[in-house]
Amino acid sequence: MAVQRKRTQQKPKRLAARNGNGKAVVERNSVGRHAAEDAVRTLLRWAGEDPAREGLIDTPKRVVDAYLDWYSGYAIDPREYLGRTFEETAGYDEMVVLRDIEFESHCEHHMAPIIGRAHVGYLPTGKVVGISKLARVVDVFARRFQVQEKMTAEIARCIDEVLQPAGVGVVIEAVHECMTTRGVHKRGVSMITSKMLGSFRSDARTRNEFLTFIDIRDRR
Ligand SMILES: [Zn+2]
Repeated sequence: MAVQRKRTQQKPKRLAARNGNGKAVVERNSVGRHAAEDAVRTLLRWAGEDPAREGLIDTPKRVVDAYLDWYSGYAIDPREYLGRTFEETAGYDEMVVLRDIEFESHCEHHMAPIIGRAHVGYLPTGKVVGISKLARVVDVFARRFQVQEKMTAEIARCIDEVLQPAGVGVVIEAVHECMTTRGVHKRGVSMITSKMLGSFRSDARTRNEFLTFIDIRDRR
């Protein structure tokens, strides 16, 4: 007869907030801070360390504080940043581009840093947002565990859904530390991904205008 283990963990609670895919976001607090710090101590022991020695005694607390910052994107709905739009644009209907939005993210395969820059453009149809809001949208998605391709598409889709512009373009260039500091150890390799929607996808001139604006080739 199989012995049933006592269930000590409660089912994670759900927040009303949704992530970029419209899925409910698991509430971080379903795992308490103490359990998270214990997990860090376990990893320290596993690596061969003594978590009780002086230099490491506060490390679990510091790691959890850092994680609260790095993974803060789950608690935020990026659509809210784009909710406030300006319609008085004096008939401006040309492309809006924000380039070189620096971000730090973490890959979902190794929890290793992804350091990069995002370039975001859209062709408004009457509604524009404050440019800092585009950078905030990038930040929200970056502060979750990511795959670069997914993050690129999530940012583009979010802007497309909320602003309903004629088109959206997102290009991300990033260095993945799981590749540069371990594994194949290839330093200086960056990955470039892009997602084009609407006229950015269907109209080569619009796409080329965006790519000329962001000019990612010469700025190494
Ligand atoms: Zn990785």
